[in-house]
Amino acid sequence: MSSGVVIVGAGQAGITAAFTLRDRGYGGLITVLGAEDELPYERPPLSKNYLYADPSASLDLAFRPEQYYIDRGITLRLGCTVTAIDRAGRQLSLDDGSAMPYTDLILATGTSPIVPPIPGADLGGVHVLRSLADARALRQELRGARHLTSIGGGFIGLELASAASRLGLESCVLDIADRVLQRAVSTTTSDYLTATHRQRGTRVQLSTGLAEMVGDDRVRAVVTTNGESIRTDLVVIAVGVRPNTRLAQEAGLEVANGIVVDEHLRTPDPAIFAIGDCANFPDGFSGLRIRLESVQAATDHARLVAAQITGDDPGRYRSVPWFWSHQSTTKLQIAGYTSCSDKDIIRGDLESGRFSIFRYDQGQLRAVESINRPADHVNARRLLAAEVSLTPDDIASAADLRSLLPVATRV
Ligand SMILES: Cc1cc2nc3c(=O)[nH]c(=O)nc-3n(C[C@H](O)[C@H](O)[C@H](O)COP(=O)(O)OP(=O)(O)OC[C@H]3O[C@@H](n4cnc5c(N)ncnc54)[C@H](O)[C@@H]3O)c2cc1C
Repeated sequence: MSSGVVIVGAGQAGITAAFTLRDRGYGGLITVLGAEDELPYERPPLSKNYLYADPSASLDLAFRPEQYYIDRGITLRLGCTVTAIDRAGRQLSLDDGSAMPYTDLILATGTSPIVPPIPGADLGGVHVLRSLADARALRQELRGARHLTSIGGGFIGLELASAASRLGLESCVLDIADRVLQRAVSTTTSDYLTATHRQRGTRVQLSTGLAEMVGDDRVRAVVTTNGESIRTDLVVIAVGVRPNTRLAQEAGLEVANGIVVDEHLRTPDPAIFAIGDCANFPDGFSGLRIRLESVQAATDHARLVAAQITGDDPGRYRSVPWFWSHQSTTKLQIAGYTSCSDKDIIRGDLESGRFSIFRYDQGQLRAVESINRPADHVNARRLLAAEVSLTPDDIASAADLRSLLPVATRV
């Protein structure tokens, strides 16, 4: 009997792959191996409503109840870490000493938070935020704390600062870069978010690194690279993540900021795919080789791989990337991908807090950032997917973005 599909990682990508395989009629064995001892769950709420919801209120983040997996014949093995891949023998070693054979293997191992070697990182009150267990511990401590410091002005650092302010804590965001979300958004959006966080009482300290954290058994202050001591009783280190590539690397697969895969998300070993946050893939949309940390990429990767395993030819990977972040009353949505732009067109009004930035590079529309303009985001995704050629003038002068869409895609 065939060993079926084995998926390493019970996160967004791994679970979507398992569900999609069954939805597409795959009749073989499906086994998902997950290191965390939790029924698989969504991560985005962990830095948002999970933190400020009343801890006594039940907030169910599980993708599906346990019975769903049983009914669909998906074997979930949780609290189980895969330690090695024997590619020649097509089997995995697990941390309980057992082995697991596979016909097709999907690596969906995600990422782990980076903790720089900073003195004081082992003090009580110093956290990272990746898993439900991390969020549970943080949520508990937020209730007794007065001041939270986020190290890093990325999405998680900013969302945390918002959650802390909402819970009545003083919050501070420290970032070594000269603007927040430097790698992800335009300067206009960075500046807008910095201003809104400051208006809500968060201290945003830019161009400033963390030298050390000091305290007794618990953290009491962070000391910046400028020599300033900032009082705090809770710190979250949110300076970025590293893809979990050790398994792949030790199995002789190529690793370069993620597990290197082709346009079908397959490694050079035809039996092994890599998807989601851990995969470094050629992005048909931007033309770049990238790694994306988003629910959209995890989900779309999973669907493409499931289609291939069930014998369909879905073509090469080409999805419009999109992402969202909630920071207090600010809803940021991003469609497309760009690491730089040479022309930004603004629609809407910065003052009103409802605007979109259309980012061009070398005459091509690459990405659209929307602040509290969900309709723009939806239309931007459609425009990018339709590959409509639009000049900055077209964008600036259109009364309604929908008029720029090909007729067949207008709603
Ligand atoms: C706090 C937070 C907020 C976020 N907010 C947003 C958001 O607003 N919008 C958005 O688009 N994205 C958001 N993201 C990102 C999004 O959650 C990820 O992109 C997505 O979860 C990636 O899915 P994945 O399956 O690739 O990885 P993961 O969800 O990280 O799952 C990987 C799993 O693999 C397991 N694993 C690793 N190695 C092994 C092994 N050897 N054996 C067994 N299991 C293993 C890990 O324990 C983990 O459970 C957020 C992430 C976090 C942490």
